[in-house]
Amino acid sequence: MIYIKVKREETEKAKEKMFEMDMLDDNYRIFVDDEYGYIPVKNHVDGYEIVESEGVRRQRNQNPYEKIRTQFPLREFRDLLPDKWEKFGDIVLLKLPEELIPYKYIVGKTYSDVLNAKSVINYQYVRGELREPVGEIIYGTDSETVHLENGIYYKFDALKIMFSSGNVDERIRVSKFNLLDMRVVDMFAGIGYFSIPIARYTLAERIISIEKNPISHSYLKENIKINNVKNIIPVLGDNREIRIMDWADMVLMGYIHTSSFIEHAVRMLKRKGIIIYHDTFTKEEIRNIEERMDEFFGKYQYSIIRKHILKSYAPSIYHLVFDIFLRKV
Ligand code: SAM
Repeated sequence: MIYIKVKREETEKAKEKMFEMDMLDDNYRIFVDDEYGYIPVKNHVDGYEIVESEGVRRQRNQNPYEKIRTQFPLREFRDLLPDKWEKFGDIVLLKLPEELIPYKYIVGKTYSDVLNAKSVINYQYVRGELREPVGEIIYGTDSETVHLENGIYYKFDALKIMFSSGNVDERIRVSKFNLLDMRVVDMFAGIGYFSIPIARYTLAERIISIEKNPISHSYLKENIKINNVKNIIPVLGDNREIRIMDWADMVLMGYIHTSSFIEHAVRMLKRKGIIIYHDTFTKEEIRNIEERMDEFFGKYQYSIIRKHILKSYAPSIYHLVFDIFLRKV
């Protein structure tokens, strides 16, 4: 490391000058002895005496991504390291670019060390109606985790089941409903994304939680136990085939592209009640959203109590949620 050597009383002034000249090496500390000050510089500076010293590196509070970059041993690939990831419990999910696949173990180990995760998964995409992830463990051996959100423990296998971090606001919103003595059907229950917060916080009398994927259903049952909620009836099966009629005060349709399921939601609803409907729309469709909703709900007497954009889903496509009051006619 190289330093310029100046008279002790000139240290501050010289430091400012080096800064102005963009020569100050901010990664190292300035030090002084009885007579001289030593300022770390990036290169030789004309007119100054230069001394070499090992120097003392500044301790910085690096953000996790900076730490990952610093700790990753293959310098030439640092710029390819993903700067976004998701952490559920002690599992990290990220998406590796092709160029890093040959080095996936060392990438995984670096993220695991810095983010304190037991396993790291290279997550490619989510497949099909059962929303199954496609990916592989690149570091660690185990992909099961327990994720804590809003006071709820969600246990699941991150390699087999998706968890949409973008839906967190909606999971929290439904947990704030007052559903005193009401009956709820969760048509796409998954591992209990909405059912468990509803059971825990809303005073609902009972929730029937229907899930088609046996793996999700079995985690749903486990999550009911872990969270010690008593008012959920977990049902394995396709919600179109579950014979519930005129039963619910509220039906949750917490899954997109499900307009063809609306008739089943209505069947499950009492003579009147609430349907929470999720779907995606383009900007153009949002401009005429009343028309779109009429296509879906027009044959019933309905009103939209509330609509909001939950998240951006893809470029120019948005995930919206509607609270719909519906009366069967
Ligand atoms: N709400 C979730 C969140 O907050 O992360 C995201 C949607 S969730 C993954 C959708 C669930 O619906 C999946 O578990 C899928 O297996 C289930 N599913 C899809 N079609 C179904 C059907 N016909 N009957 C019951 N469950 C179904």
